[in-house]
Amino acid sequence: MHTQPIDTAQAARAAREAVTAAAAVCRAVQARLDDLRAITKDDKSPVTIADFASQAVVAHVLREHLGGALVLVGEEGSQYLRQPEHRAHLHATLEAARFVWPEADEHDLLEAIDRGDAQPTEDHCYWTLDPIDGTKGFLRGQQYAVALARLDHGVPAVGAMACPNLPLDHASSLEAIDPAGSVYLSVLGEGTLEAPLLEPAGQSAHARRVVRGDLPPGRPVSACMSVEKAHSSTDDTTRVMERVGPSREPARLDSQCKYAVVARGQADVYLRLPTKKGYVERIWDHAAGALVASEAGCVVSDALGQPLDFTMGKGLERNRGIVCAPPSVHDRVVRAIAELGLLG
Ligand code: AMP
Ligand code: MG
Repeated sequence: MHTQPIDTAQAARAAREAVTAAAAVCRAVQARLDDLRAITKDDKSPVTIADFASQAVVAHVLREHLGGALVLVGEEGSQYLRQPEHRAHLHATLEAARFVWPEADEHDLLEAIDRGDAQPTEDHCYWTLDPIDGTKGFLRGQQYAVALARLDHGVPAVGAMACPNLPLDHASSLEAIDPAGSVYLSVLGEGTLEAPLLEPAGQSAHARRVVRGDLPPGRPVSACMSVEKAHSSTDDTTRVMERVGPSREPARLDSQCKYAVVARGQADVYLRLPTKKGYVERIWDHAAGALVASEAGCVVSDALGQPLDFTMGKGLERNRGIVCAPPSVHDRVVRAIAELGLLG
């Protein structure tokens, strides 16, 4: 299949609208966590519902803006919702999606979810979506993201990331749940913008450029990492940070919001060190966030310092772990990982 070159400005507008609409759905679901748990008799159902509704809405908004030919590789498929025993989930998902897509019916919803469940193409020109990244954070009422990226021959060219609970004010604690949230938009070669998420769609008057300067020599280095202990090794992170020099206890937050947190200077490195040998990172967990950080001036690589390779399908098969930091910090962290022989 041969894909036309993309109009990045048009793709960026579409991506921002798509993640903004999906985030509105996620917020609406998060406001009714207990209700939904009661209706579906399932503790995890709110995230399931928000996940499916978010993917449907992103597929719908992208099609409205860019037409039907685009390929969207999302994390979800509709099979679960099509099972008769999950009718309560299907109804709740449709209700959630209608919050921003009022004319949708069951058929539209399931069809949109499946359109977002495409396979990567051979030319590596497609969209990839994590409809809710940081599902555990979503359920705890903490940080999560809707993360959407367009790959152009395997290179992230446009990235949009809605962080509904992340305060735009960089001085606020990452634990302070913000009523407006933040949205990040990056275009390859054109930088990263941030804006309040709850701003009427299409108005970027409040958008400001995110520029990450390098860390002056001698300053302590602060890290951020996953909340979930199974997702990144705490012990290895401690060893690396001790070797890098003076540092503080790492900040812990869920989702790709970590890339934005480093890009905007609230932490100096996002470290993701494998807890088990065979784990392969998923493309939708990194494509948007990595572009947000690199366009702000950070270096993003795997834990061995290799560039992320988005040409291997849904997994970053050629990479292990993640290091995202301003250039001099990145160098020091990658060197420390190698000296400690962590991925030997
Ligand atoms: P985070 O919020 O940074 O912990 O990342 C959440 C993402 O971690 C999820 O979207 C999963 O795709 C991914 N994940 C799940 N299991 C693992 C694992 N064992 N190691 C690393 N990442 C994982
Ligand atoms: Mg994810």
